[in-house]
Amino acid sequence: MIEILTPAEVDRARESGALVADILQTMRSRATVGTNLLEINDWTREMIAEAGATSCYVDYEPSFGRGPFGHYICTAVNDAVLHGKPRDYALADGDLLTLDLAVSLRGIAADAAISFIVGESRPEESESMIEATERALAAGIEAARPGVRIGDLSHAIGSVLADAGYQVNTEFGGHGIGSTMHQDPHVPNVGRPGRGYVLRPGLLLALEPWVMADTDRLRMDADGWTLRSATGSRTAHSEHTIAITEDGAEILTLPR
Ligand code: MG
Repeated sequence: MIEILTPAEVDRARESGALVADILQTMRSRATVGTNLLEINDWTREMIAEAGATSCYVDYEPSFGRGPFGHYICTAVNDAVLHGKPRDYALADGDLLTLDLAVSLRGIAADAAISFIVGESRPEESESMIEATERALAAGIEAARPGVRIGDLSHAIGSVLADAGYQVNTEFGGHGIGSTMHQDPHVPNVGRPGRGYVLRPGLLLALEPWVMADTDRLRMDADGWTLRSATGSRTAHSEHTIAITEDGAEILTLPR
């Protein structure tokens, strides 16, 4: 089912999106050398509770994970890219950290992800990979407006990633969002223009380009959740939730 939100629901989505952005920026500022991933999980749990919101992750039990996730944020380090389950690990200088967070506030969910380098090191290849996912995300958002199709967004995202030299995995991509975190339509990170569902005002989409440096293949950790690059190469992921408006798209998960 594809959900079209009322203007009042989109207003609530703005609040959910602002909370997701606020938590992610707070965690980014606290994710320094020595910070443990389990601390990031605890701080996230506290901020969600303080806001009166609900975690979309803690009880999440999809077909692609083993049992309930049991945590409040995804923390993926270096070669880990998706569904990174927080573990007892202290961040080191130069680590590439991806944080992915979805919460529901007053019944509407928002979802966003950021990748960044921890500490003072600035590994050039990692920075350019992060920047490629950010540019792909911006291109997808730029393409989004009423009347265009999902394939137009997918094509815009995938073209940036391909031009930057990355192979694109098509197992996981963006998605509709609203009363639940993951819903139709699926938004692959590769696509053909003019194909797929036609966007309309009130549709919420989570767009999420992600790449691995030298492969499009994933492998899963023994935790049954964390997905890493098959080669051990570094990875990056950028995500925003957007609302389709009358004449374009509004990013709901920008920091205020
Ligand atoms: Mg998502």
